[in-house]
Amino acid sequence: MELSTYKVHIEGTVQGVGFRPFIYALAQRYQLTGTVSNNSKGVEILLNADSLTFNQVLIAIEYEAPPLSSIETIKHEKLPYQSFDDFQIIETQEAGEVTVNIPPDVSICEACEKELFDPSNRRYGYPFITCTHCGVRYSIIYDLPYDRVNTSMKFFEMCEACEEEYSNPLDRRYHAQPIGCHDCGPKLELMDNVGRVPLIPTNEIDKIVELLHNGNIVAVKGVGGYHLMCDATNEEAIQKLRDRKQRPTKPFAVMVRDIDMAKELGEINELEEELLTSKERPIVLLQSKGKHVGLPLQVAPNISRIGLFLPYTPLHLLILDKLNRPLVATSANVTDEPICTNLEDLEKLQGVYDYVLEHNRDIVNGCDDSVVMVVNEQQIILRRARGYAPVSIKLPFKLERNVLALGANQKSTIAIGFDNQVILSPHIGDLDSIGSVEYYQKNIETLERMYDFKSDIIAHDMHPQYESTKYAKRCVGKRTLREVQHHHAHILGVMAEKQIKGKVFGVAFDGTGYGDDGKLWGGEFMVCDYEGYERVAHLNYFKLLGGAKAIKEPRRVALSLLFDLYGEETLALENPTTQAFSPTELKTYFIAWQKGLNAPESSSVGRLFDAVASLLDVCQLMSFEGESGMMMEELYDSSVVGHYNFGYKDGKIDVLPILVGMLAENDTTIAVSKFFHTLVEIIALVYAPYDLPLVLSGGVFQNRVLLGLVLERFPEAIISNAIPPNDGGIALGQVVSGY
Ligand SMILES: [Zn+2]
Ligand SMILES: [Zn+2]
Repeated sequence: MELSTYKVHIEGTVQGVGFRPFIYALAQRYQLTGTVSNNSKGVEILLNADSLTFNQVLIAIEYEAPPLSSIETIKHEKLPYQSFDDFQIIETQEAGEVTVNIPPDVSICEACEKELFDPSNRRYGYPFITCTHCGVRYSIIYDLPYDRVNTSMKFFEMCEACEEEYSNPLDRRYHAQPIGCHDCGPKLELMDNVGRVPLIPTNEIDKIVELLHNGNIVAVKGVGGYHLMCDATNEEAIQKLRDRKQRPTKPFAVMVRDIDMAKELGEINELEEELLTSKERPIVLLQSKGKHVGLPLQVAPNISRIGLFLPYTPLHLLILDKLNRPLVATSANVTDEPICTNLEDLEKLQGVYDYVLEHNRDIVNGCDDSVVMVVNEQQIILRRARGYAPVSIKLPFKLERNVLALGANQKSTIAIGFDNQVILSPHIGDLDSIGSVEYYQKNIETLERMYDFKSDIIAHDMHPQYESTKYAKRCVGKRTLREVQHHHAHILGVMAEKQIKGKVFGVAFDGTGYGDDGKLWGGEFMVCDYEGYERVAHLNYFKLLGGAKAIKEPRRVALSLLFDLYGEETLALENPTTQAFSPTELKTYFIAWQKGLNAPESSSVGRLFDAVASLLDVCQLMSFEGESGMMMEELYDSSVVGHYNFGYKDGKIDVLPILVGMLAENDTTIAVSKFFHTLVEIIALVYAPYDLPLVLSGGVFQNRVLLGLVLERFPEAIISNAIPPNDGGIALGQVVSGY
């Protein structure tokens, strides 16, 4: 048959994932000549073939593509015939606008794991073993295209053996950018707690394991930052970490050797196992077996859930394999600051750790561990970071102009939107400190630079005090600002992820977000589409005594609701809430409530949770966000039936009758369980008249019990699976607002 020259252009995640050698191998199989190359738009192939063979090649590309790749588009055309001597992989060429995706960091693959523990392999025990199908990506990239010179591996010169693998198209390490070995790659360095004096043991891994065994806290440099690690079976070590980090109760994540060790500690269903062992290797929140069988309570005080994850780098594997017991592995960061990515950052935590396990490959882009849970057979992402970000999200329509979306203020993420795609940054964190705001700006600059992105529109939250809003106003220049209501953005994020067009009925249950009336919303029911929203119902406003302080003190919210119910008589009441204050405090707060002094109004379901937790004496003061809800999850009993009364008139939900019902209850478990049921009843009643898809979002839906109950009642309800229901999903919603 007659040969023609075909040009094929492929876009998607096709760089740094072994795509060119895959095409090379295909060309060998079909004995074709031509070339394959990367450019900043994707992969380009020139191929001489007859039409029949060419079609077979196209099918093979689609069905046999390498495991880490994902093809978004394949386009091909016939060119005037040109002859080639053989098939060649040619070097990267530059080409205008960047549309190629930054590959995320992925966990070590099976083949590399096997070599790591094979004494006859030349990389036996090498803590940075990697290949085309696994290893660091995003965290070491300065710029696109993804080539070694654009990563922090550029400082390591390949040895001859590595060079040979790197240049052989049929080798598993062909163009594996982070390739290295004992001779030429990154190396470990063990340091004391000042972080400057190297200790030189004969074997770093043996030494680290010994130190962990003896109850030391070690800062270990990983992929996107450092972890603070200690033996998870050592009560004293964990308590020491809690005391030094001033983190009394917030649960710690635990890294386990393998899925078998995970199964000893947690109840794991099929989907949870899939997530634990996936290439993303997130922290998975699981029901622990009994009350922490095998682990001291200090790992997660008062809570029967446990966050487990598997080693995702060869370094972690080597440590876990030798230690053979679970390890507490929590992100090393100063409270309210981003994760530490270099020794200088880490010095701020001096006194917390006893030793540092350092290595000399720079972390260019910080990235936390991702956190997921499974509710009613659905994956819910609570923190979208390592492994998942910055993967692009496809939109159901094309954006007319480029949008930079700045997210909210807590669990911040940012997004850039162009054409029909959105790149959502990994979890950045709360913007509550100068350090975190700097880190936030760095993330914006990084995404813009890598994608050579210029925005026409800056989308931001309505809250005037958010750092993201201030940033928008500071940097706007000639761009257009677009203000997006917080809860509208929540619902839009889900719509964008699920590619929903048209109107939906959105339920946004949240901590707090700025409303278009200047009040703090958070118990919102809205009929909305990309263009706008109608707030059809919400919780009746109540006052947050002390403003921001009320967010950390459930007792303040409960007291305010008691004032709403009983006015001045509250001062004479005896219940857990009033008893959490001194008589003088009660009087002061009554006046503040009466006069509305430093008492912003809120319709937040998150705060209602707090109020309930205080009234039932479950939690009066919180040491971390979401604590009250977590403790209420613990108390829920599915055998309890019934709910409390509530009022509903003119789109306003009166929650006071709920409190009256609860105060008359003398069993906390029954009260908590009926409270959960009441929230489901509220949704059912308000949603009933609408024939629209039901969309759920907002941080309160991270509550496993509530989400489970709502999904049981409304199996068709839509919740996001690729972006978090909390404020981490806001940036995506902001991008699509106004379309
Ligand atoms: Zn590998
Ligand atoms: Zn080497």
